Amino acid sequence: MVLVNSPVEEIKNKLDIAEVIGEYIPLKPAGPERLKARCPFHNERTPSFMVSRYRQIFHCFGCGEGGDLITFVQKMEGLEFPEALRLLAKKANVQLPQYDPKLTTEKTALLDVLKIAAAYYHEYLLKAQAARSAREYLSQARKLKPETLEIFKIGYAPDAWDGLTLALKKRGISEAYLISAGVSVRREKGEGVYDRFRNRIMFPIRDVHGSVIGFGGRALAENEPAKYINTPQTLVYNKSQVLYNLDLAKPEIRKQKIAIVVEGYMDCVASYQAGVGNVVAASGTALTEGQVLLLKRFASTAALAFDMDPAGENAAKRGITQAWKENLEVKVISLPFGKDPDECINKDPKAWHQAVAAAQPILEFYFSRTLGNLDPKNVQDKKAAAKVLLPILSWVTDPIEQTHYLQKLAEWLRVEENLLRRKLTPQKSADEKFKIQPSKVDRQEALSQRLLGLLQLEPSLIPEIAKKLPTEALNGAWQNLYKFVQLQYSEDNLLNISEWQQAAAKRDPSLADGLAISAMAVADLSAGTSVEKHREIETVTQELQRVWFNKKLIQLTQELRLAESRGDKENVQKLTSLFQELTQKFKQS
Ligand SMILES: [Zn+2]
Repeated sequence: MVLVNSPVEEIKNKLDIAEVIGEYIPLKPAGPERLKARCPFHNERTPSFMVSRYRQIFHCFGCGEGGDLITFVQKMEGLEFPEALRLLAKKANVQLPQYDPKLTTEKTALLDVLKIAAAYYHEYLLKAQAARSAREYLSQARKLKPETLEIFKIGYAPDAWDGLTLALKKRGISEAYLISAGVSVRREKGEGVYDRFRNRIMFPIRDVHGSVIGFGGRALAENEPAKYINTPQTLVYNKSQVLYNLDLAKPEIRKQKIAIVVEGYMDCVASYQAGVGNVVAASGTALTEGQVLLLKRFASTAALAFDMDPAGENAAKRGITQAWKENLEVKVISLPFGKDPDECINKDPKAWHQAVAAAQPILEFYFSRTLGNLDPKNVQDKKAAAKVLLPILSWVTDPIEQTHYLQKLAEWLRVEENLLRRKLTPQKSADEKFKIQPSKVDRQEALSQRLLGLLQLEPSLIPEIAKKLPTEALNGAWQNLYKFVQLQYSEDNLLNISEWQQAAAKRDPSLADGLAISAMAVADLSAGTSVEKHREIETVTQELQRVWFNKKLIQLTQELRLAESRGDKENVQKLTSLFQELTQKFKQS
């Protein structure tokens, strides 16, 4: 029999959820097939976010989020199902049916337009007669090799008003899409649209997954007033959320744990060609909050190769304080010559390698820049030094680091460290900004999960617990699984958990997921002794009984009141005896 898989199943088969999630957050092993992490969907100190390799699902016991790898990517990236699927299809190298309306959204349609536009510009650069000066500029003035043009899919926008517009219209793409994608502009007078980019070297801007989301266009003509123009904000392109080249650089960044951040596309391409591959461009001389968070996924340090001014108050504008807040270390790369990395590399690639290797911690940089020009014996200079450096030190989040540099400054100024410390401006700490959130999961639900997990660890206790605890004492979502484990135990007497998994998957996949989720809920106990497990089962069972009795009592009280108000004596009597029976039971346990 030939199995015809849907693309969704094919993607799920080819990708491992642990690897996909591991690209976003650091996962730690928690048992044979389980991993854990601090939940990315709520703030917590201790990890309650679990991943099951066996079932290929994740579940957070703090906030209740859970699902498969597609759900995870959707939540993490804020995507609709078709967009997440597309992203994962690319990762898994799975071909999606192209014109399935179920798999298309406005966003995916724009990505298609941009991909075709990038191919058009690239093709034009390589082949068109009219692109000769562009080719010469890139190969001679910028010294870019053909393979570099290929890797970055660098292109050329012809010196015409409708080069791209006509080519894309011929492919059946509507004017509305050309405008939404940001590649064409509506004419102010008359009808129709024209090319946004003309006579420009085109850098396709790709997102972290490698999809083209926009363009940066560099003017080829030297007298052109706007040297660079970018795609405007569109549905898929938001300048502040993108780091150019992150998709290609991320393996090397992850390996070295350092991301080199340059300002321009050309700096980035030149560095990559020179063999320094862990490089991204910020498209400006400041890191935004979105860019810092993106970097944090792959790096522990950002080495900035911007033109840095030593004025301390600019640290915040540069995004440096933002980086500190997210515990991203910041270093500064100082160029030996040239106004930017591109110019430096063009003259001498080795000098760039050396500059990268000599990157300085940002505070060292500020200190040597500031103090190097000042005289510690001159009182005006002393005041100037404190004025520049104290605001920066106020932002340092690590107390050890802060003290180290405060001492250094105090020594230079020859004043008491405490005097300087009092002058620091208090900053809101990261903890204040991101309050730890209490668990959102209902107590009965948490207990039910835990009980079912424990019963998988100690199946021999199932008959005993079944006698003590009725099904309705468990949270509604877990009652089916509770019945299932009892049935499994009594009928088949299967004590092997993997056999349970198989039986559950055959009957109903949600049962199998439930088994995996509840097993993850007790990952902390799986290595414990039998005595510990028995004691925990005892405690959890009692707690569930208590929660259930309480609910039951409240319910009975309400029914009793209703019966009394109706004068239904028979029912009042029945309910009263039930009430007494229950309270009696509750006292015993
Ligand atoms: Zn959570």
